Amino acid sequence: MQTEWSPIPPTTTGLRGRCPRCGQGHIFNGFLKMRPECEVCGLDYGFADPADGPAFFVICFACVPSVLLGVWLEVQYSAPLWVQLLVTGPFMLATCIPPLRPLKGWLVASQYFYKAEEGKLVSPSPIAPSSSER
Ligand SMILES: [Zn+2]
Repeated sequence: MQTEWSPIPPTTTGLRGRCPRCGQGHIFNGFLKMRPECEVCGLDYGFADPADGPAFFVICFACVPSVLLGVWLEVQYSAPLWVQLLVTGPFMLATCIPPLRPLKGWLVASQYFYKAEEGKLVSPSPIAPSSSER
């Protein structure tokens, strides 16, 4: 099995749902469910914790077009509720659901690429005596 891996940019691997180390294996087991490890290189995906990062990006950016559509329909045409439900509702699903998977893949690949992890408290190590004191 290969032991050295050249770094692959997260945009190359994560957006396609590929393993951040080998670029061949898959990250996902379902739509958003993570595999426990890469089926090609065996990388343990236990480090991956994007939490609600993908949803944050969707809320901040991907839902803007559907909100603008809903407001525009209301202001321009005084659209009744059933029009909002039949037009804005599906449009919102179409713009908010599909970006979740590539965003989650990109965040997981970025965690691996940049070695991002939760902060830890490190106890100070005892000061080693310098060689001149011996
Ligand atoms: Zn892999």
